[in-house]
Amino acid sequence: MREHSPLPLIAALALAAPLAAPPAEAQQAAPLVIRDVSVIPMDREEVLPGQTVVIRDGRIESVGPAPARLPADAIAIDGSGKFLIPGLAEMHAHVGSPEANARILPLYALNGVTTARGMLGAPGHLALRDSLARGLVLGPRLLTSGPSFSGGSITPEEARRRVREQKEMGYDLLKIHPGPSRAAFDALAETAHEVGIPFAGHVPADVGLDRAIEAGYSTIDHLDGFMEALVPPGATGVPARGGWFGLNLVPHVDEGRIPRIVTRMREAGVAVVPTQTLMENYASDLTGDELAARLEYRYWPADQVEQWRASKNARLEDPDTPPAAQRARYIHVRRRLIRALYDGGVPVLLGSDAPQVWNVPGFAAHRELHLYVDAGLTPWQALRTGTVEIARHLGEEGRSGVIRPGARADLILLDANPLESIENTMRIAGVVVNGRWISGEERERRLAGLRTGGR
Ligand SMILES: [Zn+2]
Repeated sequence: MREHSPLPLIAALALAAPLAAPPAEAQQAAPLVIRDVSVIPMDREEVLPGQTVVIRDGRIESVGPAPARLPADAIAIDGSGKFLIPGLAEMHAHVGSPEANARILPLYALNGVTTARGMLGAPGHLALRDSLARGLVLGPRLLTSGPSFSGGSITPEEARRRVREQKEMGYDLLKIHPGPSRAAFDALAETAHEVGIPFAGHVPADVGLDRAIEAGYSTIDHLDGFMEALVPPGATGVPARGGWFGLNLVPHVDEGRIPRIVTRMREAGVAVVPTQTLMENYASDLTGDELAARLEYRYWPADQVEQWRASKNARLEDPDTPPAAQRARYIHVRRRLIRALYDGGVPVLLGSDAPQVWNVPGFAAHRELHLYVDAGLTPWQALRTGTVEIARHLGEEGRSGVIRPGARADLILLDANPLESIENTMRIAGVVVNGRWISGEERERRLAGLRTGGR
């Protein structure tokens, strides 16, 4: 595999055609009342039992003991024995062509991913963002980057021009891929600050982590550039090519360098989106067959899963693949980074890179949460990465990622307490997406309609 190459699926997604007429998903007009539910508001570590949550016009209207008067026309939902958490936001996600989106968008929503930051934008995604915001299409609220800044041929002049153009077109951020030269990157960063648009994504080799932090990345995704930064300057025998996000560098990594990086990140206010599930699925000892046996692949095109399965098996058999101990240490170092960044006050933001390799939209976000717990976060801390931390990053503190009056009505109703086990985030009894209630029954029916295989 070419170092840091944008992956083949994403190349296909980038060819997104303009949005076709979306199927109408009439937005719910009636208010919702979720009764007698245990609320995990996420702005404090607490479970509030016996709450009644009233939702109207896409917002949470009230949260508390049952009010004396409930809206007469409300849809009543029995929350007894259940737990309510805010919907999840995912900061490294992808949407694609209208055809691909017919599967991608509902999979996010039905799994409680109610905000997604699309990290490979195309002009059609601006109209899609609008359709989603208006509730015309079932799916998460979309934030979208512009088409990526990729490859070594981009000149500083071109970078400046494209930054202005993407800002004018209304994209939410700029996406950086590997490749741009230091000069092109510097021009991009300077112009982005000038016109006021954030930039995020990979850290080009010619830029490096130190410069990326100094330049004011909004988020560094995949922990790109971190392995390189953990190799002490002057180390000998370091391979010229870092391999898959620094996998080849692992024998040269000095974990003692982590605290300094954490301090710099915190002081500069740069966030990370780990996409740890992408990395672990790539580097782990799990065979393609073991991965492919997971239940979520019944909702993903079988030919693609087969391709992933065959390529993972081939990689494990390839004598050029780093040995198991090196791959295990790679996972260990990345987990240690996630924990150190979180504990050090660096915003760690949920993101799995769905639907990139092995990551089925929605399901992958829950796997990502699980890996943050494996990295040493508590379930509460892991949930923060997909809720209040992202709200703060987006400048929406108190208005999203939280259960309180006035906040967006994006919610997940769970059959069990996710603070006791993070696996309980997948025990979904229903979701509220942009104020619209999808019961467990409707969710099952819609998922069944998306099934591709008989596993
Ligand atoms: Zn991606």
